[in-house]
Amino acid sequence: MAEVVVIGCGVIGLSTALCLRENGLDARIVAAAPPEETTSAVAAAIWYPYKAYPEDAVLRWGSRAFEVFEGLAAVPGAGVRMREGFELRRYWAPEPWWSAAVPAVRRCDRDELPPGYRDGHAFVVPVIEMPVYLRYLQDRFAAAGGTVERRVVSDPDEMAGEAGVVVNCAGLGAGELVGDGSMGPIRGQILRVRNPGLDHFFLDEDDPEGVTYVVPRSGDCILGGTADEGSWTTEPDPEVAGAILRRCSALEPRLADAEVLEHRVGLRPGRPEVRLEMEDGHEVPLVHNYGHGGSGVTLSWGCAEEAAELVQNTL
Ligand SMILES: Cc1cc2nc3c(=O)[nH]c(=O)nc-3n(C[C@H](O)[C@H](O)[C@H](O)COP(=O)(O)OP(=O)(O)OC[C@H]3O[C@@H](n4cnc5c(N)ncnc54)[C@H](O)[C@@H]3O)c2cc1C
Repeated sequence: MAEVVVIGCGVIGLSTALCLRENGLDARIVAAAPPEETTSAVAAAIWYPYKAYPEDAVLRWGSRAFEVFEGLAAVPGAGVRMREGFELRRYWAPEPWWSAAVPAVRRCDRDELPPGYRDGHAFVVPVIEMPVYLRYLQDRFAAAGGTVERRVVSDPDEMAGEAGVVVNCAGLGAGELVGDGSMGPIRGQILRVRNPGLDHFFLDEDDPEGVTYVVPRSGDCILGGTADEGSWTTEPDPEVAGAILRRCSALEPRLADAEVLEHRVGLRPGRPEVRLEMEDGHEVPLVHNYGHGGSGVTLSWGCAEEAAELVQNTL
């Protein structure tokens, strides 16, 4: 019997299981889908708090994850890089509410603003290339002795007899797994295009046609996006893809002719608040770590460390 079983193999499950193992606990993972088939694999992924609550806890978890990612940017093969980018605004805007978590946030110079924008902030944050980073996490987990079993769990209590504590990192799947009716999908559609030489990211949350972002990575760029609350459709919509490409090309004209490599959709695990707590009343003690909305990567290490602490207190 393992000391801990973690349900889920996205960025939250992998980070949590890794923290547990590196703290000396015998933790293993059970997951319905492997990392490359999760929402985590679709993420852009910038350190940026988005559609995750409550703000004070998001700031605490996000600050801790920022520190860890800053360290990982120096680790070859981790897929993490510190990049400067711009949050663009159509009107004057105050400093972002999360700026205390980021070492330097400055107002954009006029010549940094694309046409149509009146304001914006520039900052350097971790950009995480998810296919590379998820592989790095898996390798580090395996090197620490961790194993991953592919299996659908229909009730956390079915793990009684297999683990001393269960940690629920099932993302959107937690809704069904523990009957949490407050969970819902926030659908995100993206395009992956060849990088035409960009080295800054752009974000525009206020575009009336939809949230718009451009995230350059080592060889490609992620272009987004959508944030459709309540939509379970995982097929990319060609019309939506065309609109994303138009909006992103208006921000950065070099994208207009970029080769399209892939279309993808991910369902963000939306919840009024991230659920990070111990729940009594099960056959086996149950710690929850799910509901990170559009910020699972941004909050991953902060939440993983707190979840590991809850497990250790329980054991
Ligand atoms: C287009 C897009 C862009 C994004 N950009 C960013 C960004 O820039 N920055 C950022 O921080 N975040 C971003 N996000 C959000 C981020 O991807 C999510 O918050 C994060 O991936 C959630 O991780 P997770 O591990 O909780 O869930 P998931 O990655 O969905 O993993 C859930 C795991 O649980 C398993 N599971 C579920 N149910 C069961 C079950 N019953 N039994 C066994 N296993 C089960 C699944 O198989 C899977 O392994 C983005 C998301 C999208 C879609």
